[in-house]
Amino acid sequence: RQAYFRSDLSLLLERVGSGKESLSFMRRRMRRLAAQWAAAARRLDERLRGQYREQKRILVHVGFLTEESGDVFSPKVLKGGPLGEMVQWADILTTLHVLGHNLKISLSVKELQGSLGVPPGRGSCPLTGPLPFDLIYTDYHGLQQMKQHMGLSFRQHRCHIRVIDTFGTEPAYNNEEYATLHGYRTNWGYWNLNCKQYMTMFPHTPDNSFMGFVTEELNQTERFNIRRGKVNNMAVVYGKEASMWKGEEKLLTILHRYMDIHGTVYYEAQRPPEVPAFVRNHGLLPQQELQQLLRKAKLFLGFGFPYEGPAPLEAIANGCVFLQPKFSPPHSSLNHEFFRGKPTSREVSSQHPYTEQYIGKPHVITVDFNNSQEFEMAVQDILKEKVEPFIPYEYTCEGMLERVNAYIQHQDFCRHSSPFPTANESRSWPGNPPTPFLQLPNSTALIWAPNITAPACWPPLSALRLFLSSEDSSCVKTCQDAGLICEPSYFPFINNMEAFNGLNAQCESLEAEKNHVFPAVQVDSRECFQQKEPLLFSCAGVSAKHQRLCPCRDYLHGQVALCRDCL
Ligand code: UDP
Repeated sequence: RQAYFRSDLSLLLERVGSGKESLSFMRRRMRRLAAQWAAAARRLDERLRGQYREQKRILVHVGFLTEESGDVFSPKVLKGGPLGEMVQWADILTTLHVLGHNLKISLSVKELQGSLGVPPGRGSCPLTGPLPFDLIYTDYHGLQQMKQHMGLSFRQHRCHIRVIDTFGTEPAYNNEEYATLHGYRTNWGYWNLNCKQYMTMFPHTPDNSFMGFVTEELNQTERFNIRRGKVNNMAVVYGKEASMWKGEEKLLTILHRYMDIHGTVYYEAQRPPEVPAFVRNHGLLPQQELQQLLRKAKLFLGFGFPYEGPAPLEAIANGCVFLQPKFSPPHSSLNHEFFRGKPTSREVSSQHPYTEQYIGKPHVITVDFNNSQEFEMAVQDILKEKVEPFIPYEYTCEGMLERVNAYIQHQDFCRHSSPFPTANESRSWPGNPPTPFLQLPNSTALIWAPNITAPACWPPLSALRLFLSSEDSSCVKTCQDAGLICEPSYFPFINNMEAFNGLNAQCESLEAEKNHVFPAVQVDSRECFQQKEPLLFSCAGVSAKHQRLCPCRDYLHGQVALCRDCL
């Protein structure tokens, strides 16, 4: 059946219900953004006209909001607890609904069992019959619950699952055997999924799919009003809890010499929060009122926590400059409590690396906050600068609809029993080469030879650009340096001798092993290694002793998840 865009959210709002504060928060958000979603759907519908979109049966099981997982979030919605996850789930549900799919929402293990057709109370009874859904969106909590309640059929059906995973999961942590043997085992990883099944809040490592969320957009009148209503010396501090402001009195005092400082720190009537007396604290605000405050403010100031939340994008969308600390050395699961146990080695270079890397000046200023002179100069520069509201396309409703639609129509992790061809299949091309690769003129990169039929793949192999990294460089970085992005779906097609030869790797020998930096060349011995375990193909992997084979592709301006030929 064909999917048709929907602009009316009433059915969705009804399904979400309002039994808890978290659900009410999500409903309020959906209602507030309804017109924006409808307009985006109209535009995308127009652009995709003529394209057949299949309607999918989709189950959304929000594990972290189930009582069975302890639901620690709902009681803190009005008390300064994290709201980013709620923002993202509200937007995911809206996207799936607006795209016209057949949606079922589950917020308890009982509903999950009902939806899957597992008799309640039967523990890990396997499903009889086929899975009644094409796709299941859930989170790590939900994954655990599904495994528990689907028994053996979990393995069989897991290719249909998508895991909403804020900070991302890297291949070395995802492959159970490898993680256990090599010290990458965490509380979260080791599910042996295709890493593209993990969907992140920001485009972290391209090993995962970037899901994202949306930022409220401005119409012409609102833009005009913002330009008129900006108060040049007004700053808002990022942080709903007083603990996020702790130890920052010195910088606040410097800032206060130039600007009036506002905060939105939660507090209980009897106990005002411990922030300096010159701060005007509004208490936790409803999202809409926070937007109003940001429309007036010139500066949004982060002190390093929370990491990678939605609020900086909202501030930038409302014409604020986001001033944030650079982390040197970067924070990661190796050196910071917050990231410890998360299934990623990603190095976080500032409070919000996405805004630093993808948006940058004049909207985002990243400086060393330990150097108060540098901080003060940044404030002075911000006061002089005139900055327009800005939203990257991928964080608009249209951008999110476009991206998620492409995933739903093209990503298929069930096609092979293993998500990739086996090591043998990908070892070499059948028959004698003509090699499938050609050197790109004036470049070290290889491309797919146009006269050789490309195997079916999404993103299409026409976008492939193959590089040899320098040692100690990941494929994330190698592709980035070439103005491209690493594309892990291409690894199976470059895991062969032809690729090594094409890149002039001068292999002394060729072997296949399980290692998350392979395919690669060992620098001192010129031994070449293919990847033996397809689940270990990794953009993020890095090794001081190896030069890696890196499959890269182009991306659309403002929509890094998609290439030119992806739509
Ligand atoms: N927010 C809000 N009221 C406030 C402060 C923040 O509604 O007083 C919202 C904000 O609009 C954002 C969400 O909280 O969409 C999450 O913000 P944050 O970036 O702090 O991330 P979190 O740590 O909560 O996930």
